[in-house]
Amino acid sequence: MAKIVFLGTGGGRIVVLNQFRATGGIILEISGKLLHLDPGPGALVRAKQYGISLRRLSGVLISHCHPDHYTDGEVVIEAMTLDKKKKGFLIASKAVLEGHENYRPVISPYHLEKLGFYQALKPGESVKVEGLEILGTPTRHEEPTGIGFLIKGEKTFGYTSDTEFFPELPDFFRDADCLVINCLRPRGQTWPEHMDSGGAKELIGKVKPKLAILTHFGMKMLRGVAERETRWIQEETGVKTLAAKDGMQVEF
Ligand SMILES: [Zn+2]
Repeated sequence: MAKIVFLGTGGGRIVVLNQFRATGGIILEISGKLLHLDPGPGALVRAKQYGISLRRLSGVLISHCHPDHYTDGEVVIEAMTLDKKKKGFLIASKAVLEGHENYRPVISPYHLEKLGFYQALKPGESVKVEGLEILGTPTRHEEPTGIGFLIKGEKTFGYTSDTEFFPELPDFFRDADCLVINCLRPRGQTWPEHMDSGGAKELIGKVKPKLAILTHFGMKMLRGVAERETRWIQEETGVKTLAAKDGMQVEF
């Protein structure tokens, strides 16, 4: 049984900067390994709030170089490596590790030194680490090197990260048992390079995961709108679809 804990479900500047929803990322437990995806602002505090010991982490994944996805990366790496140096791994977009055009590297050499292993992944590349296979999936987003993840262990877990829908995207998530989609806005309220629930419905309808979960909500998805949109997606696709809440735990 694999498990997810949402340490945050906020997206978009207004929600993130006002902390209308938390922004600590996602904890994934799979094949006995604990991973932290996109440790944004408050990841350390939310982990404590929701009873997750970051010392148990095996790895950290950072999808792209926007602050709501990386700001707590270094403290989470410190927590992961508190008991033992040269432990754990970091998989990230190229800009997170090396910088790119308007982005600088966001994990210091001091923190990379603490890790057992780190690697930048390009879309379509995969790496085997700690008994898991991790594939970088493509994105269309402001950060040009940004990736999502398909993580294969006892179950297969997909995470789109921030991207708009595009026709090639479903192919990368075909095998997902559980697919988590960063969905900023409701259907019909398209914002370039971000997902709205119309795009999420297309993706879910094509991938047909056993379970789909929307998260990373902007203002227009709060006050019950995300729940309305997931009910609509579920009716249209026949796929069980949830709207994430801060602290929500889901087994799959
Ligand atoms: Zn972003």
